[in-house]
Amino acid sequence: MQYAIRKRVMVTGGAGFLGSHLCDRLIADGHDVLCVDNFFTGTKDNIVHLMDDPHFELVRHDVTFPLYVEVDEIYNLACPASPVHYQLDPVQTTKTSVHGAINMLGLAKRTKAKIFQASTSEVYGDPEVHPQPEDYWGHVNPIGRRSCYDEGKRCAETLFFDYRRQHNLRIKVARIFNTYGPRMHPNDGRVVSNFIVQALRNEPITIYGDGSQTRSFCFVDDLIEGFVRLMDSPDDLAGPVNLGNPGEFTIRELAEKVINMTGSSSKLRYEPLPSDDPTQRRPDIALARERLGWVPTIKLETGLATAIEYFEELLRERG
Ligand code: NAD
Ligand code: UDP
Ligand code: UDP
Repeated sequence: MQYAIRKRVMVTGGAGFLGSHLCDRLIADGHDVLCVDNFFTGTKDNIVHLMDDPHFELVRHDVTFPLYVEVDEIYNLACPASPVHYQLDPVQTTKTSVHGAINMLGLAKRTKAKIFQASTSEVYGDPEVHPQPEDYWGHVNPIGRRSCYDEGKRCAETLFFDYRRQHNLRIKVARIFNTYGPRMHPNDGRVVSNFIVQALRNEPITIYGDGSQTRSFCFVDDLIEGFVRLMDSPDDLAGPVNLGNPGEFTIRELAEKVINMTGSSSKLRYEPLPSDDPTQRRPDIALARERLGWVPTIKLETGLATAIEYFEELLRERG
């Protein structure tokens, strides 16, 4: 008799926005999923629907401490992602990226697991090359308020490539551009969740600076498809690989879209631009297209409609 062998896949940061969607996908694909999270920005609400599944397991753990488990694949997502949250305790943010990466790489080395790193477009800083290809080294302030995140993630990338060179680890590094969708934390300060929640409450929409800075927004389902394709790609593809939607919008355009789509009476309120806020950002996704056959398929309006529906229900439940 033949037994189906399930892959044992660990997701750090699995109770967060992206991590919880990834856990859903991995369970749907028939894997055993170990979700590791310290609930700093994640919440049980994001994964409660998986808790009765015998193939899903939750461990409360901080990745800055060693962890000994037996797994075949690791997705390392643990790290607060919104500027508001990662600047709350910046030293812990750097520790999470750097000590967290060392521990997870040590675990991957011992278990011979394949390991994926959720890196970020923030490694490009305030980019002088536009759109950003993977071979652009970036323009990052090493001592500013965003540095704990940017430099933490850059150091994590260094560690991943050194473990590959030194210990032959199978690594997959994704540079994720702004992603949005259901289960973003309503108070986490990121622009899409802020604008939708403000619009639904008919409160002022807070635009930092003059709103001419740009971002490219990817819907979560598209991104998760990219994660899985990268993890399943041949071992020679270590990355980094940009994953994001190349559609580029100014923050003012986003505000107007959200107001129109929600039928809100909110007005725009201009507030100071935070320091080191990148002026432009758009991924060059040629590598992902070529090597993974991946392109985002969900338009901003379509994804926003789904996100708006999610926040409407959340606000109805919680006020
Ligand atoms: P999120 O804040 O919703 O999720 C992060 C998760 O990590 C949370 O569940 C949090 O509790 C957990 N966590 C934080 N520190 C931890 C620690 N020390 N030990 C264990 N768990 C810890 O953010 P997200 O948007 O889901 O981001 C997930 C990953 O993707 C992050 O690494 C982030 O840097 C990266 N990323 C996200 C975006 C985006 O637009 N969402 C863009 C670029 C990169
Ligand atoms: N580590 C871990 N789980 C493991 C194996 C290692 O958390 O299953 C941690 C371990 O505590 C160490 C780190 O990963 O600090 C790096 O491990 P590595 O083997 O690369 O280095 P060393 O143990 O030689 O410092
Ligand atoms: N932003 C804004 N109003 C808000 C939240 C964010 O104008 O209420 C701006 C922010 O200054 C930045 C962009 O929107 O230029 C994206 O911000 P976010 O925090 O979502 O992500 P990141 O700056 O990390 O790309």
